[in-house]
Amino acid sequence: MPEISRKAAGPYYMARKSIFANCRINGYNTPIINSGERTMSVASVVYLVVPCYNEEAVLPETVKRLADKLRRMMADGKASPASRILFVDDGSRDRTWALIEEYHHADPLVSGLKLTHNRGHQNALLAGLMAARKRADCAVSLDADLQDDIEVLDQFIDRFHEGCDIVYGVRSRRDTDTAFKRVTAQGFYKLMRLLGAEVVSNHADYRLMSRRALDGLSEYHEVNLFLRGIVPTIGYKTATVTYERRERLAGESKYPFRKMLGFALEGITSFSVRPLRLISNLGLLFSAASLLGLLYALISYFCGWTVPGWTAIVCSIWLLGGIQLLCVGILGTYIGKIYSEVKARPRYLIEAFLENPDDSAENNR
Ligand code: UDP
Ligand code: MG
Repeated sequence: MPEISRKAAGPYYMARKSIFANCRINGYNTPIINSGERTMSVASVVYLVVPCYNEEAVLPETVKRLADKLRRMMADGKASPASRILFVDDGSRDRTWALIEEYHHADPLVSGLKLTHNRGHQNALLAGLMAARKRADCAVSLDADLQDDIEVLDQFIDRFHEGCDIVYGVRSRRDTDTAFKRVTAQGFYKLMRLLGAEVVSNHADYRLMSRRALDGLSEYHEVNLFLRGIVPTIGYKTATVTYERRERLAGESKYPFRKMLGFALEGITSFSVRPLRLISNLGLLFSAASLLGLLYALISYFCGWTVPGWTAIVCSIWLLGGIQLLCVGILGTYIGKIYSEVKARPRYLIEAFLENPDDSAENNR
């Protein structure tokens, strides 16, 4: 059981509220807080939020490992007995939801949230985090394939208990990736920073967020969701925990190259307007260059050097045409984003929520 001073206990004050609620409502065997002393021992309600899209191949093993880990954390006093694993079914077309239902009935630690339609990893994650926000002291997001090492969850909780509101899981090495993925991922992080977005290098979506960080996240209403870029702008005290990322346990990646490229573009255009400024600069540069060209053409004309000039004309048409198309494309991407933000459609809709009646948000907030 961790012992901490009250001064350093930021999240504990929130933990206290829900733990007392749990004592009262759930009848859990929760740890006792001696508020008259300078130290107190509490275990936080931890929600592990796992988005799943067609994950029937990996789910049985994932449930087993996560439930085992959460039980060990409860035994060590790192997680309260009210902690849960929340699987979010992102409109899967296989037996993922049927399996989640089965596991929910078999194990009280398993809760399930079913979205009405496939909304993508980021939206599924958000749906799970927003459900956890009303029930937990902190939530950890992780992928269903357990590529992220769950043994470092204790370190996440330790940092949380030390007063950090956001803890980022950072990969120590990328050697389980293909050379291509390694190079493109590193280039992406560099480019994002160059364009002015705050991103944590080699961090995907394996992170812990406290309840108040989740409250902060709930204030972001954007439809073009890129959590890796949003979360660092929430603020509060943060920490990183390094871990080694493994191969997928089973099944195949839901992020083929095409989707990954889309995700990277989404990240860049959601977080930086610098490409737009770049277009204006490019325009200025080419205008200056064409002035020089004009000067050269005039001099040539007056000096009688004029030649048919076919090559020069054709080259400039192609070059300028290409650049113009590129610029219009970039502008279009941003306009498209404005279009979807203005429509403000819901980011996800919930079809079903499986949880024990004692876990419900009304009992915890
Ligand atoms: N995922 C999701 N909706 C999607 C695509 C993926 O919820 O539309 C989930 C998927 O089930 C997994 C996580 O997002 O838990 C990350 O996907 P994956 O492991 O396939 O990505 P990779 O690790 O290969 O980048
Ligand atoms: Mg994966």
